[in-house]
Amino acid sequence: RRIAEADSVAVLGLGRFGSALATELMAGGTEVLGVDIDESLVQAHNGELTQVVRADTTREEALRQLAIDEFDRVVVAIGGDVSASILTCSVLLSMDIPVIWAKAVDERHGLILEQLGVHHVIYPEHDMGRRVAHLVRGAALDYIEIAPGYALVKTAVPAMLHGRPLGETGVRSTHGVTIAAYQHGDEDWRNADNTTVLQDGDTILVAGPTATAEAFAQLR
Ligand code: ADP
Repeated sequence: RRIAEADSVAVLGLGRFGSALATELMAGGTEVLGVDIDESLVQAHNGELTQVVRADTTREEALRQLAIDEFDRVVVAIGGDVSASILTCSVLLSMDIPVIWAKAVDERHGLILEQLGVHHVIYPEHDMGRRVAHLVRGAALDYIEIAPGYALVKTAVPAMLHGRPLGETGVRSTHGVTIAAYQHGDEDWRNADNTTVLQDGDTILVAGPTATAEAFAQLR
C-alpha cells in the first residue's frame, strides 16, 4: 500500500525519539511510514504504524524504492550515527522533499544540518534540558517557552487571585501576566476571562514574558 498522500509523514530512524514521534503522529490521525536499518525495531513497530520498512536511508535507491520522494514531510530521527544523519539529509535534499525535519544531537551536528539546508533542525535533548531546568528550579508544574522571552507556565493559584473575579484583581497591570486558562479539581481546562473566579487549589496557565511569568509562578 502506498501512503504518500497529503497528510502522511515518513519517519526515518525508529529509536526512542523517532518511535515516540511516529506513535504520536499516528494517535493524531496522520499516516506514518517508519523506516529503520535495524530489523528488530522494524518488527517491534509492525502494526503500530501505517507501514514499517527496513532500509538504509543513506542510500538513494532505497529511498526511491520506498517512494520517499512523494512525501511532503520527512523527519530524520537518526542521532547516534551522525554521518548517517547527514548523508540521509543530503539525499533527501537532492530529492527536493518540500519539508525536512531533522534532529541534532549537538550544536555541531545541528550547524551542519542547517548549512545543508534542512528546513527544521531540532535539538530534543538540549531543549528538554532547558525546559526541565525551569521545572526543577521553581514552582512551575509545566513550562514551555513559546519564543525566546515569552512563556506559558502552569502553576498553583496565588492567594491574591482567590475568590474574586479575575477582572477585579488587576493582575495584568500589577504583575504583567495574563491568566489564560484554569482547571478546577480534575474538571476540563477552561479559558479564563474577566468573570472567572479562581479558588485555592485550582491550577492556572499563566502567559507572559518568561521572567515575569516565572516570578508570578513563585507567588504563594
Ligand atoms: P534515539 O536517541 O532517539 O534512540 P538514535 O540515534 O539512537 O536515537 O536512533 C536512531 C535510529 O536510527 C536507530 O534505531 C538506528 O537503527 C536508526 N538508523 C541509524 N542509521 C540508519 C540508517 N542508515 N538507515 C536507517 N536507519 C538508521
